[in-house]
Amino acid sequence: MATKYIFFTGGVLSSVGKGVTASAIGRLLKARGISVTIQKLDPYLNVDPGTLSPYQHGEVFVLDDGAETDLDLGHYERFCDLRLKRTSTVTTGQVYEEVINRERRGDYLGGTIQVIPHITNEIKRRIDLVGRTSGADIALIEVGGTVGDIESQPFLEAIREMRNDLGRNNSAFVHLTWLPYLKATNETKTKPTQHSVRELRSIGILPDMIIARSDYPVGRDLCDKIAQFCDVPVEGVVPLVTADMLYRIPLILESMGVADYLLKRLALEPNQPPDLDGWRWIVDELSREKDKVRIGLVGKYVELHDAYLSVREALTHAALFCGVSVELDWISATDLEKGIGLERLGQVDGIVVPGGFGSRGVEGKILAAKYARENKVPYLGLCLGLQVMTIEFARNVLGLKDANSSEIDQLTPHPVIDLMADQRYLEKMGGTMRLGLYPCVIRPGTKAYQYYQRESVDERHRHRYEFNNQYRDLCEQNGLVISGQSPDGVLVEMAEIQDHPYMLASQFHPEFLSRPNRPHPLFLGLIHAICEAKGLGNDIIPPAGLYKQPDGKPD
Ligand code: GLN
Repeated sequence: MATKYIFFTGGVLSSVGKGVTASAIGRLLKARGISVTIQKLDPYLNVDPGTLSPYQHGEVFVLDDGAETDLDLGHYERFCDLRLKRTSTVTTGQVYEEVINRERRGDYLGGTIQVIPHITNEIKRRIDLVGRTSGADIALIEVGGTVGDIESQPFLEAIREMRNDLGRNNSAFVHLTWLPYLKATNETKTKPTQHSVRELRSIGILPDMIIARSDYPVGRDLCDKIAQFCDVPVEGVVPLVTADMLYRIPLILESMGVADYLLKRLALEPNQPPDLDGWRWIVDELSREKDKVRIGLVGKYVELHDAYLSVREALTHAALFCGVSVELDWISATDLEKGIGLERLGQVDGIVVPGGFGSRGVEGKILAAKYARENKVPYLGLCLGLQVMTIEFARNVLGLKDANSSEIDQLTPHPVIDLMADQRYLEKMGGTMRLGLYPCVIRPGTKAYQYYQRESVDERHRHRYEFNNQYRDLCEQNGLVISGQSPDGVLVEMAEIQDHPYMLASQFHPEFLSRPNRPHPLFLGLIHAICEAKGLGNDIIPPAGLYKQPDGKPD
């Protein structure tokens, strides 16, 4: 059967939670035995967000095939337990790049290239491709931006045309809006929603469902009003009040019959009654009052929590399975290097140093690694977190005073972290890092092995610099264990400090493969070590079938 499509658009405001809503609906469909895939259409002109500052765009999420994507792809993978491919991410930049390349090759045979049909056809080709190559029953397509934006118009035109191409029973449109609350009159207003639906209708898209986000409870009377003004059946108007946690959203939408309504609209029968027991268990466990473990996340974008979204989620998943909850202390690495907030390192039970680029804050992260090593505080380093752990070890254990990464100090006498040979003469910054899945062989007898319980894994990377093998023997002789390496033994992928409860770091980003139903072993190791030190946590027994051996494979 050909893939059917559900298109998600947003109105009134950006950030109303289209990505999470689409992901949640994906979870509800999967719970009914319907296979899904998901795609994000981003209207900006960057080819991908890889070159964007996290301040602009939050975290850059990385897929198996090395695609650098929007953080919504992380929501999709976590909620739906999918492993997505590059086809799931489309930007205006990619679309124009493709069309212009074709034009330069002469493929258009003298034609004038226009937004309609050339750009819109290329968008349609990519929407079609994600459905066909995934073989999913339903593809969920999220159009980034807000209806009315100039830059998202070609995407809206493309999905409008697709309804005709696909036929009415094979496509559905879900429009997400925001209902503002007016304190003065104690009212929640629907007018902006009406206007955004009018805007959508003016370009020929009639929504099948309106999900009205709000911070305050929305009465049935308001839903009826929206249904009447926007020509949507009453069952198709779904109020969605801001939830205490994102993982609750599938359950809220389920209670409102959203998946059944959409399946009916698409003339599809569920393959099984909805099985949400595992998900309910996750939400109940997350809601339960538990002992807390306090983790210091030492980063340079700490004001913007979205910059470390997957790290935060991975910590939450691991804590869930250790029977505790996580309290995060966002510690600014730049403050630490100015001597501000050092006492906070003494107030946390564990330290995480996440990924990062450039020199700002690096000395602060090195300080945090030193503190963790000397005080035996559990530490997990992610990518740059491995690099700073190595630099700290070289400086303070090996006595190589000015050891550094050549990213930070090109003239360092001891570049313990250095550029890979194939990264030296690159001209382009975009898409040229070591990206995506690479195999890692794990050394038995190490902490890494203890938690992975396997000899090799594939993990996702995003970096240019590597551990410099010239220092490997010296490091190993002095208590830095190389616990993971590339199968040819050339690249150091994981390292850990001997005689420490848990000081482990990876050159890859384990956070991208953590799922609420399958916490990542390295994060479990961190939380477990903290629980042991504090005498906390208990053995959590998840419902049968929920927790699978963390083999990194989706269910
Ligand atoms: N800046 C470092 C590198 O390029 C680390 C990158 C990261 O943490 N993702 O190797």
